Amino acid sequence: MKSIAEIRRDFPILERKIGGNPLVYFDNGATSQKPQQVIDSIVHFYTTYNANIHRGVHTLSQEATEAYEVARKKLQKHINAAKSYEVIFTSGTTEGINLVATCLTPFLKAGDEILVLTTEHHSNIVPWQLLAERTGAVVRPIPVDKEGMILMEDFKAMLSERTKVVSCQHVSNALGNVHPVKEIIALAHSVGAVTLIDGAQSCPHFAIDVQDLDTDFFVASGHKMYAPTGIGFLYGKEAWLKKLPPYKGGGDMIKTVCFEGTTYADLPYKLEAGTPNICGGIAYGVAIDYMHSLGMADIAAHEHALLKYAHEQIRALGGITIYGTHDLERKAGVISFNVEGAHPYDVGTLLDQMGIAVRTGHHCAQPVMDFYHIPGTIRASFAVYNTLEEVDRLILGLQKAMKMLL
Ligand SMILES: *Cc1c(COP(=O)(O)O)cnc(C)c1O
Repeated sequence: MKSIAEIRRDFPILERKIGGNPLVYFDNGATSQKPQQVIDSIVHFYTTYNANIHRGVHTLSQEATEAYEVARKKLQKHINAAKSYEVIFTSGTTEGINLVATCLTPFLKAGDEILVLTTEHHSNIVPWQLLAERTGAVVRPIPVDKEGMILMEDFKAMLSERTKVVSCQHVSNALGNVHPVKEIIALAHSVGAVTLIDGAQSCPHFAIDVQDLDTDFFVASGHKMYAPTGIGFLYGKEAWLKKLPPYKGGGDMIKTVCFEGTTYADLPYKLEAGTPNICGGIAYGVAIDYMHSLGMADIAAHEHALLKYAHEQIRALGGITIYGTHDLERKAGVISFNVEGAHPYDVGTLLDQMGIAVRTGHHCAQPVMDFYHIPGTIRASFAVYNTLEEVDRLILGLQKAMKMLL
């Protein structure tokens, strides 16, 4: 891998100062920064070959179509999907889950059960509640232990012939816990349930193999993995994607349209109505290339070293509660904590004045906060460009904040 100093030079925003202090960006769980290579690809698209894709006979349209479809193939390879048309471009994780939850409507009936973890992001709860309202099915939360890890025995006990969907986060955005999704998927399949894995927080941190996981669906967002906002993907097994009815109607998703009846396009276009985020898709491919140029295993190792160091240093401070598992082999990218006796918002505000960007609040996972009876947490989340020195700055910042607040 390039040195971290070299990697940092790829991210121009890291030169910013906040209140006179060099920026420490520890809010990667909300969105990552973008390397120059990705920024350049956006400028290059709009300066040299911007055009709408598919069906165009002219050169620009052909170039744009080619680049967009190459990006799809990069994603296919990245997650080891069997076919490129099993990769559907979406606007992000939220849209991917909504697509599946909407299109599964005809497959569910009253009394069926949809299982999600207690610690899901709202994006992996609300679309299923909407599906439940449409069909009379029920959404049941799978219990977790006090460190927020799935309780496998409880999960097994919940599975029955009523279980139609199991939708589970790969990595918790609020706690960083990595759940044993391969095992969860196999158990769900043993009762005939369809599975969706929310990979929004796993895809940025380590390599994904959807065939090895054997999941029916997998979703992620580009913007948390060095690509722009407004682009993401849904992976679905071919057989499932073929079974799903269209999600949105419009251009590009049809074969023929007439008032007596319309026929739909083949995959992936059946599920991609309208003009997509062409430039975003192409830039997503460049972000994937960037990650591979560093190496997925090296990214994971570097971030794990940061996590381990941060965990030790924060624990050594005393007076701080760390949430999520303390087994760092089952944790990725995120450390979530509170200063005892201080509101997370106040700590976050003081850290910002020192140039340190962390996230405070419920992290779109209110059931997690209810579980711990807290208003929110302070979350530091890492990317490949973060350094041990930046963790030291966080520790110093926390010491200062604790002196001021306690
Ligand atoms: C960010 C996130 C989402 C939602 O992603 P969007 O990019 O906002 O659509 C869903 N699940 C998890 C675990 C996340 O971290």
